[in-house]
Amino acid sequence: MKKLLMIGLDGATYALLQPLIADGYMPFLGKIMAEGAYGDLMSTPNPLTPPGWISTVTGCSPDVHGIYDFLRPESTDDGVFLKVNDSRDILCDTVWTLASRQGKRVTTLNFYGMSPPVQVDGYLISGFIPWRHLRSATYPESLFDTVKSLPNVDIKKLGMDIGEEKKCIQGLPEEEYEDWIHLQSERDAAWTELLSHLMEQDPTDLTAIVYDGTDKIQHLFWRYLDPSLAESTTASPWGAHIRELCLNYYRQIDQSIEQLVSLSGPNTHLVITSDHGFGPTHEVVYLNEWLSRNGYLKWASQANVDNTSKLTADRIKDHTLMIDWEHTLAYSLTPSSNAIYVKQSKDGSLGVAPEDYPDFCRTLQQKLLDYRHPIDEGQVFVKADLNACRLAGRPCLEHAPDITLGLRDGGFVSILRSTEVVKTREKVDGTHRPNGVFIAWGPDIIPGKHLNPLSILDVTPMLLYLMGLEIPKEIEGRVPVEAFRAEALRANPVRFSKMAQPARHKSAANRPEISEDEKDALMAQLKLLGYMD
Ligand SMILES: [Zn+2]
Repeated sequence: MKKLLMIGLDGATYALLQPLIADGYMPFLGKIMAEGAYGDLMSTPNPLTPPGWISTVTGCSPDVHGIYDFLRPESTDDGVFLKVNDSRDILCDTVWTLASRQGKRVTTLNFYGMSPPVQVDGYLISGFIPWRHLRSATYPESLFDTVKSLPNVDIKKLGMDIGEEKKCIQGLPEEEYEDWIHLQSERDAAWTELLSHLMEQDPTDLTAIVYDGTDKIQHLFWRYLDPSLAESTTASPWGAHIRELCLNYYRQIDQSIEQLVSLSGPNTHLVITSDHGFGPTHEVVYLNEWLSRNGYLKWASQANVDNTSKLTADRIKDHTLMIDWEHTLAYSLTPSSNAIYVKQSKDGSLGVAPEDYPDFCRTLQQKLLDYRHPIDEGQVFVKADLNACRLAGRPCLEHAPDITLGLRDGGFVSILRSTEVVKTREKVDGTHRPNGVFIAWGPDIIPGKHLNPLSILDVTPMLLYLMGLEIPKEIEGRVPVEAFRAEALRANPVRFSKMAQPARHKSAANRPEISEDEKDALMAQLKLLGYMD
């Protein structure tokens, strides 16, 4: 039986991978690309980790699975509050449960949003979890004790370390660059060690892992990694040293991929994907400041002016305190969402009446698209997508954004108060791009085939197909048949399930929420990931 290995590289982009291959840092990936099929993988409308990975593992778009961001706004009579998304907010089945239900066993490690864990036939540990909570993010729970007993795996390295993340709350100081890269290398190595152990002890039909260090290192060290910027940042011996450490991080990733492929054995299909791409960001766009200047938002008296090019407040609950809710019609609550929400009027309160909603949104959209940078006169908001479903009066998810923005340099908005709408960053940073990577390799794949861009929704159907399973009709993506040899398609035709999948419902509203401390730790993590300067 053929084995299936899926490796997620968070934020991976050919803009870096191809020079790394050419310079000899990733020889195994170079071999895989030469022998496999590859192309761009287009991310979700807002190319962000949570919607990106959840669309990857469900084959459904955010409007269907319900995950748009790390956080989601919930309106109450007292204003708007932010809640942290977890697996209970995902409204579709994941490929892990779809495969388990059809008799396949799976191992899945470090994917965003998988906690509390869903039952699978195999092993699951969620990513993005403080290490103290890893036990409750592990399925089956006995796996946690196995992990603890492994001599070469430090359980603390598998999770977020609240102390470490909080240290970075005001950015990463230069003197800590070296230690940070070492720590991230050790974290990724710990996941590789754990997965290798599981693959040796109890191999499953589908084995999947995400390396999230690629995203973090690109947010923090883009100017050392991007060949076009590295010339200036590596002029000093220290800068050259930092670049070398970053490059060695990718060398380690390459070795991990090779190790996992070798452990999987002959007759393995390998699929490598990213949740979004990456590129440079040069400026900070203060979206709520723009809304305020255009009469849509009123700042609360305690909203301080940002002088440090930050994107967000230090604590999650401070986000909602910056806005005078009584006098606000449209607002953004998190930088990572790149989203505008419109306040609808309820029982005579200030807001947009349902009959005025379409005109209100279209006018706001036009103003955003017409806005020009005060100095270079360039278009700042290059995309302002309306919520077509809500506009047409069809039912849609309550927390779905009313407008999803794209900035000209691909970055995330700042939600803070500012003296300017657009500020130039002091240093170039890395941020997300819509086009990530897709690489497939194995006996059924056409070697050396360059594919037209695929959708992130195509990954789940591809994985199900490679296991010989039926694809539920509800899945929005398709199997990229153009990557396969004709004889493989004849022997294993694409099959759809006749029966609709059982829909999952959101669990009861009064479920336990994570503590304020844990929220702050998550916030620190988001900031470290580049949602601040
Ligand atoms: Zn990501």
